[in-house]
Amino acid sequence: MDQPQQTSRREFLRQSALLAGASLISARSFGNIHIGKQTRVIVIGAGFAGLAAAYALKRKNIDVTVLESRNRIGGRVFSHTIAPKENLVVELGAEWVGNSHERVRALCDQFGIPLLNNQFDTHLIYQNQYTKANAWDFSDNWKPKMKALLDGYKTLGENQKLELDSIDWWRYLVNNGCEGKDLIFRELLDSTDFGESIRHVSALIALSTFAESSEKNEMDLKMQGGNAQLAKKFAEGIGDANILTGHIVKRIEQTGSVKVTCENGKTFEADKLICAIPTFAMKNIQWEPGLPTEKIQAINELQYARINKNAILFKKRFWKDESFDLITDQTPHYFYHATKNQPSQKGVLISYTIGEKAELVAAQNDEWRKQMLGQTLSPYFPGSKKLIESQANYYWGTDKISQGAYAMYGLNQWHTTRPALQKPFLHTSFAGEHLADWQGFMEGAVVTGEMAAAEIMAV
Ligand SMILES: Cc1cc2nc3c(=O)[nH]c(=O)nc-3n(C[C@H](O)[C@H](O)[C@H](O)COP(=O)(O)OP(=O)(O)OC[C@H]3O[C@@H](n4cnc5c(N)ncnc54)[C@H](O)[C@@H]3O)c2cc1C
Repeated sequence: MDQPQQTSRREFLRQSALLAGASLISARSFGNIHIGKQTRVIVIGAGFAGLAAAYALKRKNIDVTVLESRNRIGGRVFSHTIAPKENLVVELGAEWVGNSHERVRALCDQFGIPLLNNQFDTHLIYQNQYTKANAWDFSDNWKPKMKALLDGYKTLGENQKLELDSIDWWRYLVNNGCEGKDLIFRELLDSTDFGESIRHVSALIALSTFAESSEKNEMDLKMQGGNAQLAKKFAEGIGDANILTGHIVKRIEQTGSVKVTCENGKTFEADKLICAIPTFAMKNIQWEPGLPTEKIQAINELQYARINKNAILFKKRFWKDESFDLITDQTPHYFYHATKNQPSQKGVLISYTIGEKAELVAAQNDEWRKQMLGQTLSPYFPGSKKLIESQANYYWGTDKISQGAYAMYGLNQWHTTRPALQKPFLHTSFAGEHLADWQGFMEGAVVTGEMAAAEIMAV
């Protein structure tokens, strides 16, 4: 999600990148003596933030070791082959690359990963009525009001933004004349972006997201072969031997240099540390000395959104339109065609639920989910339930490492909680989507990882 203050952070990144580039040039001109050659860095977390950081450091010949608790890399980027024979890959974590996501797009270009169009035309099931894409819309009364809000965002001063941060998006919409069907459509659509009801989302975050995002709200592209392709390319660049999976960091000592101890008893020493893990995981580490009070407070305050992805493999693509997605006012909430651009008779719809709906759907078994899907889809797509071949379900709300899909800044948190989490601590810099201007996106993870690496290289 696009957030405020991005200009200054992006500007910082550009300057850091220039600085890092200049270092490389001077190193080359002095007979391959690389700046920071002696510096040893440990990166905790092989999600996109940690991988981007390690890759940037490795490119400058800095000694880097990545410690990853899971048995795979990629973190919340989790590509899954649901139909091995047909080679159909679905995303159980991050899905879309936005048109505005400059760093991820540039890296895909550099690594030769094709980015395919992943935009959809949204159909609707509302009050037991199905309406095709482009045949439904917001009311003529609400559309100009929404446009005025979005246009007005650019002219808001700092104080007005702070005021906006103290009320929720649902209340702000109501206060500005959104009602009835328009309000229900906004709740259904916008809550899929934030992963919780818009009653929990700051109006500032929502308005800035919609005012600054691409036309399809960054739901534009997907990496061919799955988003895990980028993790693979990062790992090749870092060197597989420098990434240790199955290493759960349990203790960090920063007295003198850095000493990291893993659950398996292994220890690692370094001069600098990049901690690229979600806040719940940070809390499970014993820090010596302890983290500053304001950081602990911020860790305790920040919520992560509950998202469930139920991928359903069908024997036939009965929805016919490759760019099919569907918003509903029923339990499955949002469906989209997850195998667009993957040729096969078979196809996958993902049922994407958020908040309490996600918790409910996740708690049931496949048979229950099958009945639920049938109940929602069968009246409009007869026989669709019979075409179900298999399901894969992943609920992020109880993921043992993140306890949520991505961070969800609540009221008044953007200008207080986030800066506290961003601050370095002794030899440690922090990275991860929760700290980014492009918060909640792969782009944000990558940018904060590169920034953390640039901070180390700038020393
Ligand atoms: C359901 C869902 C949908 C999403 N949709 C999109 C989307 O459409 N587009 C988009 O751009 N983004 C999307 N995202 C967000 C995107 O996945 C994240 O922003 C990004 O992947 C986060 O990367 P990260 O490196 O910050 O964190 P992570 O990916 O969580 O990486 C952190 C890593 O640290 C490891 N770790 C944690 N604790 C320890 C420890 N103690 N020791 C060692 N390792 C540890 C974890 O195992 C993990 O691999 C989605 C996420 C989810 C869950």
